[in-house]
Amino acid sequence: MQYKERKPQPAKCANCGAVLKGVARERPYKMKRLPKSAKRPERPFGGNLCSKCSREKIKAEIRATA
Ligand SMILES: [Zn+2]
Repeated sequence: MQYKERKPQPAKCANCGAVLKGVARERPYKMKRLPKSAKRPERPFGGNLCSKCSREKIKAEIRATA
């Protein structure tokens, strides 16, 4: 009998807690082998905030500077 290793929980948005799309859900040994572009969206806050929250965050930053 061999047990299958479980995958880690999906990545969540740091602001609203929504499940992040486009972020690989693999164990560390496999994450190491994956290309960087497969691990998180290639945009500011990719892999940390969801698309909605990053949009709002970028807007808020621009408002703060202007
Ligand atoms: Zn969010």
